[in-house]
Amino acid sequence: MIVMKFGGTSLEDAAAMANACDIIRSRSKRQPVVVLSAASGITNALIRCAELAAQGKRAEAEAILRDKIIERHYVLIANLIKGLREQDTLIRQFKIYDEELRSLIYGISITGDLSPRVLDFVMSYGERMSTAIATEALRERNIRAELVDARRCIVTNAAFGKAEPLFDATREACEAIIRPRVDQGILPVLQGFIGADEHHVTTTLGRGGSDFSAAIIGTVMNAEDIEIWTDVDGMLTADPKIVPNALRIKEMSFREASELAYFGAKVLHPSTLLPAIEKDIPVHILNSHRPQVDGTLIRRNIAPADIAVKSISFKRSITILNITSTRMLGSYGFMKKIFDIFNEYQTSVDLVTTSEVSISLSIESAPHLDALVRELRKYGELTILRDKAIICIVGERLRSEMGIAARVFSRLRDIPIDMISHGASEINITCVIDEARIPEAVMELHQEFFTAISEPGIFE
Ligand code: ADP
Ligand code: ASP
Ligand code: MG
Repeated sequence: MIVMKFGGTSLEDAAAMANACDIIRSRSKRQPVVVLSAASGITNALIRCAELAAQGKRAEAEAILRDKIIERHYVLIANLIKGLREQDTLIRQFKIYDEELRSLIYGISITGDLSPRVLDFVMSYGERMSTAIATEALRERNIRAELVDARRCIVTNAAFGKAEPLFDATREACEAIIRPRVDQGILPVLQGFIGADEHHVTTTLGRGGSDFSAAIIGTVMNAEDIEIWTDVDGMLTADPKIVPNALRIKEMSFREASELAYFGAKVLHPSTLLPAIEKDIPVHILNSHRPQVDGTLIRRNIAPADIAVKSISFKRSITILNITSTRMLGSYGFMKKIFDIFNEYQTSVDLVTTSEVSISLSIESAPHLDALVRELRKYGELTILRDKAIICIVGERLRSEMGIAARVFSRLRDIPIDMISHGASEINITCVIDEARIPEAVMELHQEFFTAISEPGIFE
């Protein structure tokens, strides 16, 4: 049994969805379980609807629902589904989705209240819509596909917006619901990104979370492989939107790929590999527009390579907080107090550097930044640097190869660097720079480490 996940760009229109169905059919013998994202742009449009409604702009929200969401799916149904009866059934289903979403918009607009719980429910329609259509399209291709509601299978805590899976309950549910279908030769189609808490309330796993859904299902069901089908040839040496000639990395370790995902390589949701690592399930990143390409294979043990740097990633919208305090001098317990504050405001810190009297921390997003800052000011003088970005180079052999850091900093000599970290993980070098300098920095580093490369075994 394998898990195949298709992202939004692999489902954006009828041609893309038909292509995804063909790829799924080509794998029928391997007993696929299919996990799908919403069609590209739909989750953003749903969020926009909810936000406009919360601002009392009900008419604008309804216009987006009609023009950008419902209409787009009607076109998809008309162009993809051949049977008139099947088209009709789907259209009736979509009329219900439309009515429900209108009621939600109405409710949000009169209360002006958009809680994370309501937003998760609104967002869940994107994946529910794409899977309803794709299941029908698969059936028309003589595949015994069956739509399975992921909210019955992925059991999470109630942290709306970024829920965490409860693995034991999820395993039990997947074994009870998905396994018997697979055993009977049925192909289950599930929504990525969504789950439900123990009271059956809809949750989401965080933006880009369909990759994580695939890995959760693959892991609890002991899949032979997890395939992540997307719009690029695999994990590349940099984001091709910045470096168009980035190379495909044929193989990576779980550690390397996790580090890249954590530091911004959007091709994989940062939590995706955690469950797969535990059971050593190979994860493949593949291009649905070019299925003949081998993609990237991510697994625990990879062939030793002569190459130190595998890839460059970056993460935008970083804020640095510098706390200077003479109270820090020779006092223990200071760090604990600082981190307790971050803990209290549920803010995760990416990088930390300290000197005798100051500490610098980088954070990605802090919904409670004002309160956090107020608390931190009690412990010393605070400066805040905004619009920063983290840039990160990754490779298993980074530490053992001499001179890599020197090459990084010499290449970036014209770009002011706010923070540097080479310590915590042996396999990355990370620094913080101005967000506006990211394209230049990524291109410089890519040129430094990848132009002279002729390693057909590793890159292509
Ligand atoms: P999907 O809709 O399939 O989930 P995403 O948009 O979430 O796709 O992720 C794919 C995108 O990730 C690519 O289009 C690419 O721009 C971006 N990306 C960022 N860093 C990398 C990288 N190192 N390798 C490949 N793609 C990357
Ligand atoms: N549709 C969700 C999002 O846009 C999940 C995903 O695409 O993985 O974040
Ligand atoms: Mg994605």
